[in-house]
Amino acid sequence: MLPQKIYIIGSGCFGSTLAHLIASKLNRQVTVIDKRSHIGGNCYSYDDADTGINCHMYGSHIFHTSIKEVYDFISQFVTLNHYRHFVMTRSNGTVYSMPINLRTVNKFFNKDMTPSECKAFLEEKIAQSHIDNPANLEEQAISLIGKDLYKAFIRGYTKKQWQRDPKELPSFIIKRLPFRTTYNCDYFNDTYQGIPVGGYTKLFEGLLNHPNIDLKLNTNYQDIKDTIKEDDIVIYTGPIDEYFDFCFGKLEWRSLDFKWEVLNEQDHQGCACMNEADEDVPYTRTHEFKHYHPERKEVLESNKTIICREYSKEYKDGDTPYYPVNNDRNQELLAKYQEKAKNLKNVFFGGRLGTYQYFDMDKSILQALRFFDEHKESFN
Ligand SMILES: Cc1cc2nc3c(=O)[nH]c(=O)nc-3n(C[C@H](O)[C@H](O)[C@H](O)COP(=O)(O)OP(=O)(O)OC[C@H]3O[C@@H](n4cnc5c(N)ncnc54)[C@H](O)[C@@H]3O)c2cc1C
Repeated sequence: MLPQKIYIIGSGCFGSTLAHLIASKLNRQVTVIDKRSHIGGNCYSYDDADTGINCHMYGSHIFHTSIKEVYDFISQFVTLNHYRHFVMTRSNGTVYSMPINLRTVNKFFNKDMTPSECKAFLEEKIAQSHIDNPANLEEQAISLIGKDLYKAFIRGYTKKQWQRDPKELPSFIIKRLPFRTTYNCDYFNDTYQGIPVGGYTKLFEGLLNHPNIDLKLNTNYQDIKDTIKEDDIVIYTGPIDEYFDFCFGKLEWRSLDFKWEVLNEQDHQGCACMNEADEDVPYTRTHEFKHYHPERKEVLESNKTIICREYSKEYKDGDTPYYPVNNDRNQELLAKYQEKAKNLKNVFFGGRLGTYQYFDMDKSILQALRFFDEHKESFN
């Protein structure tokens, strides 16, 4: 009997990690299929031919993790540069540092507080709001940081992100709003941080360039599924509802639009990511990609830069699904699809689309490492 073939649908973090493990550790042939013209899923990046700037096609991606196993795994293929992510936010004509920290609070209230003074000051602001049981996102945010900071930094941004008034959004969307009473402006607290030297695509090339891996781009699973035999193994990282032809209905997503510009200036905004907190600015943030590679001195110093403005929008057919919408309706629908999936013999679902969850890259890679450990005996 011929051995079962293994198909992995999707060449993002999950699919590429798993393909590499099956090909290299089990010495098995794997066919990786992606409907896009490139590998890497939403982490795909490319060097712009004119400027040499490495651009992240689906929005800024910063690698950050405290999971040593994941860091060691990616380090076989790439080295992280020394980029540290910090985020600025423009509110009412002034630029502040995010997440809210001592610098933000002192600048906003025009004060010179010490850490303990700042803590007491914010606690007082929160107490003044008298919200014990937040009924919606607005009340939740005010109960965490007080009314003034909420209005300046959260209200407009959240309204643009969800295209709904924060009063109409459930409180659970914001579980916590970190504020630091130090001058530490790092966006992430993780042990390992940076951007792969050479860009993300180098990581995916390292994962997929293996003699046991047959990569087929520009190929939609829907168009080839009839050629897959019943006994073959399929690991599917596309949307789970699409796999079942949306038989129970469609899971909802949030999507994004990106508007790109090449500018004849050396540095447009002085940082990689500038948030726009005000409601009357239609986009949520501007990415300036050259800042992600401080090691590319020539590119940094050149008189051209590439920026991309990010607009949040409701997902419609044909858009890229970016963020799952976590509500009761979608969780119930997901449970139905997951129940149906249990009846399939050799089909497994993974990754952010296959499990309808938001994952950072490290969690998607970790999910693939765990999946491999769990199933390697049966794939061998
Ligand atoms: C705007 C944004 C910014 C982010 N920034 C960060 C960040 O800074 N740091 C971080 O750690 N994480 C970030 N993430 C998360 C990161 O993008 C994900 O963790 C990662 O992409 C998950 O990989 P994946 O393999 O699960 O899914 P994906 O990358 O989505 O890969 C799935 C692949 O499946 C393919 N596919 C789908 N359907 C089919 C089909 N029918 N046939 C063939 N192929 C198909 C798709 O083309 C895609 O290539 C961000 C996410 C978003 C939305």
